[in-house]
Amino acid sequence: MQPIKAILDFATGTIDKPAQYSSRRISELRGFFQEQPAVEAAIEQNDRLVYEVYEFEVPHDNGQLLFGSTIIHPGKVGTEYFMTKGHFHFKEDVSEVFICLRGEGQILIQTKEEDVQVLPMKAQEVVYSPPFTGHRLINTCPEEFVVATIGQADAGHDYGPILEKGMAKLFVERDGKTEIIDNPRYVE
Ligand code: ZN
Repeated sequence: MQPIKAILDFATGTIDKPAQYSSRRISELRGFFQEQPAVEAAIEQNDRLVYEVYEFEVPHDNGQLLFGSTIIHPGKVGTEYFMTKGHFHFKEDVSEVFICLRGEGQILIQTKEEDVQVLPMKAQEVVYSPPFTGHRLINTCPEEFVVATIGQADAGHDYGPILEKGMAKLFVERDGKTEIIDNPRYVE
């Protein structure tokens, strides 16, 4: 395998070729946002782009690292801020590093046993998510929230527990302010 070199634009979060690109619209995030009537209305209206991901293409094998950049657009579905799906790892004893390049948001880090941490993140702040945790990025600011990530390539993304009941906290706007509330669907 050859080394990979690319340009990560710290202002926008884009990575030029050879990184691969993917994106998620609201319609691709059914089951992740909690307010169902608002989800369907938002899809009907214009089905906005919620986030984009650039990632180096590497084999998902032991010893490989996934390097990428996630751009979460500003917006809400109902009262819930735009966010990533969030995931746990199939290989649970792995960690991951998150580097905020732009904007201001939150990272939700939790174990399956409901040990929950919410850390605000802004540009230049770096967060280490330890083994046995799942994580989600939430954009609570009016511009793009851009976060670079480095994690083990063979960890795998497990969305199952999140599709079943979501994550422990919801990030909503109430009376123009960000509130972090318990997810009513989330029960042990
Ligand atoms: Zn992860």
